Amino acid sequence: LPEDLYMPSRKAAKGVEFGDRRTLGALMDAIAKARPIRDAAPIISGLRRQGVARDVISPIDGGIIGVVHEATPDQSAEAMQAARAGFRLWSRTPIGSRAACLERVAQDLEARAPQWLHLLQIEAGKTLDDAIGEWREAIDFCRYYAQEARRRFESAAVMQGPTGEDNRLFWRGRGVFVCISPWNFPLSIFLGQVAAALVAGNSVLAKPAEQTPLIAAAVVEAFHRAGTPASALHLLPGDGRVGAALVALPDVAGVAFTGSMETAARINRALAAKDGAIAALIAETGGVNAMIVDATALPEQVSDDVATSAFRSAGQRCSALRLLCIQEDVADKMIAMIGGAARELLVGNPRDLAVHIGPVIDQSAKKSLDSHIKAMRGRAVVHLAGEAPASAPQKGFYVAPHIFELASASDLKGEVFGPILHVVRYKAEELDRLLDALESSGYGLTLGVHSRIDATIEHIVERRLAGNCYVNRNMIGAVVGAQPFGGFGLSGTGPKAGGPHYLDRFCVEQTVSINT
Ligand code: GLU
Repeated sequence: LPEDLYMPSRKAAKGVEFGDRRTLGALMDAIAKARPIRDAAPIISGLRRQGVARDVISPIDGGIIGVVHEATPDQSAEAMQAARAGFRLWSRTPIGSRAACLERVAQDLEARAPQWLHLLQIEAGKTLDDAIGEWREAIDFCRYYAQEARRRFESAAVMQGPTGEDNRLFWRGRGVFVCISPWNFPLSIFLGQVAAALVAGNSVLAKPAEQTPLIAAAVVEAFHRAGTPASALHLLPGDGRVGAALVALPDVAGVAFTGSMETAARINRALAAKDGAIAALIAETGGVNAMIVDATALPEQVSDDVATSAFRSAGQRCSALRLLCIQEDVADKMIAMIGGAARELLVGNPRDLAVHIGPVIDQSAKKSLDSHIKAMRGRAVVHLAGEAPASAPQKGFYVAPHIFELASASDLKGEVFGPILHVVRYKAEELDRLLDALESSGYGLTLGVHSRIDATIEHIVERRLAGNCYVNRNMIGAVVGAQPFGGFGLSGTGPKAGGPHYLDRFCVEQTVSINT
């Protein structure tokens, strides 16, 4: 394959140099002064609508930061009707214009950085570091998908054929896409789905996570400002009932979903139960992500990478490390070092620059993590039971790092979405048994390997245990265009966000044969 298929030139979004105190100070001032949107509502054909109003709560201190009007079933049906017309218009818009729209959204994100970062902090509880990382990813999604669409779809592929026959293969949008996104990346995943669906020529009904409607409303406004027709993109905020109503509508051509496996399975069943054409399902779900550390691994690097992978972003990444598997010979030493690294992490208000771990998203997330911790305390060896310091805002939803040792890998059932690390030991001669146990979980999102033996690394990586394998580094923060992100099995239907084949999933192909 030509190299430029996978290595096109593109500038990634600029970061912020935290060591440059003047720039950082100016940015923090601007973030503090930013006055972002405080209310979200259904946006149908460009018009804001009223619905059932609910408070938007900040995970930082449980305070009310805005209001959201949740979409009614009638509004969902009305949006679908408008989106059908929007599809006819938008799918005929030249690919260059569709791509330019995404590029203007990227400019908007850059120009209003303090607004976006402010929202990410107060609505999703992100540290500045995490907020900047997500904001950059959103910008990169826009530019990457714009570039991919131009390169792949601008002209049809010329196919072979006998003399006198012209065969061409075109990529077209599927129709109306329902995009349902999670709260853990309320900017980049919400925007990534919408950008991909739009640039591929679909119209979109977007349903953001119920916890983060403000960021979503700001994104939809940015797309409209950038020239996306009002009929091609509609916002339907609300809880799972809104998502279910959208999926059940007739004429849904595809659903892009990122979230839990249980919800993905429910969407799949709902789509299967409908009459008419079968809709495409692009699902990216969670994982019981493991890291395997053998006796040759570098302990300092392991402890740093484990602390980053398991605890940063309060463990609220699909990619985060859940199950650390350490070769028995080095386990005591490694666990002690990892515990030390975890104790250094400060839990608290994410707007404080010294803090590493902000809140979990809401009361119900905290409750379920607390009950997992309680169960583990009875069942596992406790290596670390962190506590949020008294300085953390009282009414916020804080969970400190925990490390529990289990007897076997299969003792961890399902994804625990927070800063909780589970550890198991394995004997060198049991590596294959361990790999079998990891495979039998059925998940396949991320996998970490720490070893200095090439044959071991190869042996583990070629087992096809995960969509993203990270060797001798941390296992979070996939970079757009560099580490296409997504898993298989219980972790999703296999799409790779930020990869060269992602847009294909939003398209149908059409062959046109002309007798010349
Ligand atoms: N892409 C993110 C990462 O690599 C994770 C996305 C997610 O949590 O869904 O860390």
